[in-house]
Amino acid sequence: MTGPSLADSFRRLIAATGPISLAQFMGESNARYYASRDPLGAAGDFITAPEISQMFGELVGLWLADIWTRAGTPDRPIYVELGPGRGTLASDALRAMKRAGLEPDVHLVEGSPALRALQQAAVPNARFHDDLADIPQDRPLLLAANEFLDALPIRQLVMTAAGWREVEVAVDDTGGFVLAAGSRPMDAAVPEERREAEEGTLIEVSPASAAVVSEVAMRLARQGGAALLIDYGHAHIRAGSTLQAVRAHQKVDPLALPGEADLTAHVDFATLAEVAGAAGARWMGTVAQGAWLRAMGLEARAEVLARAAPAHRDAIGRAVDRLAGNDQMGTLFKVMGLAAPGWPDGAGFS
Ligand code: SAH
Repeated sequence: MTGPSLADSFRRLIAATGPISLAQFMGESNARYYASRDPLGAAGDFITAPEISQMFGELVGLWLADIWTRAGTPDRPIYVELGPGRGTLASDALRAMKRAGLEPDVHLVEGSPALRALQQAAVPNARFHDDLADIPQDRPLLLAANEFLDALPIRQLVMTAAGWREVEVAVDDTGGFVLAAGSRPMDAAVPEERREAEEGTLIEVSPASAAVVSEVAMRLARQGGAALLIDYGHAHIRAGSTLQAVRAHQKVDPLALPGEADLTAHVDFATLAEVAGAAGARWMGTVAQGAWLRAMGLEARAEVLARAAPAHRDAIGRAVDRLAGNDQMGTLFKVMGLAAPGWPDGAGFS
């Protein structure tokens, strides 16, 4: 059973009430996209670090277990993951934590019914949540999120001759979607320090990502704990559009097939670090994924796996390269570490 296409719904909406914001277009597209499918893996649309190798999730689990141990093994911590995909990161991380003597309850934040079913199979005792609001309030959090923030909606704002305007999605004569500057003044939506800019300057902001990070940081400050937010993005603020769509491992036009391709944007880690600090958490740093994985012992872990399975030595070497190589995921992807103010520094951020 298939309902009307999201493209048709958007066309009708735009014909009736005018252009919609890019944030609305992206939010509804991704909700539709993830709701019904498993987009991950070779047969899907894209592949993520936990799907490349078990080493990724194991090192995330090891990091969380290590900081929990050095915080004095506080009682009954919970493992929380945002957007767990197939549940691969959770199951690899939990296995590594168990070896370190840590067996937390598991709370997964996932919007997609199709992916929840896969996560339940990978982590049978997990509990599910639509968002962070109803995660337990009284216990330390050990939180991870990989490629979650990049899928949350962004707003784009563009400086025109008449001032800042929102980038909106309109429909052209052929029925295709096009981006255009809206008519209402949007200066107030632009961070004050970025308001003075040349005509044509385009900036991206993600109130949805800021809200998630703010809630995580508030919970860390109140409940104790630590968090790793891993994604592709930039450590310093910059201008320009980073919106992209991927389908069957190819970049495609982000407006062409709403609900049928994964829409993402670079994560603005500089802004998120400020948001986290303002909400009471301690920001440990934002480091390149390759450097962080190597500091966590990626090569040693690869050697152990290769000795146990010599036939896979080459494949394990290729996985190390994909995860940590500078021309692969090693530099573009970043790891941001947060903790409660009283918690120690995490490994890999000095
Ligand atoms: N972390 C996984 C999957 C990344 S894909 C991995 O690394 O393989 C993005 C994940 O975030 C999916 O699980 C998707 O369903 C989820 N997601 C995206 N937007 C969401 C939202 N607004 N609320 C909850 N989950 C969301």
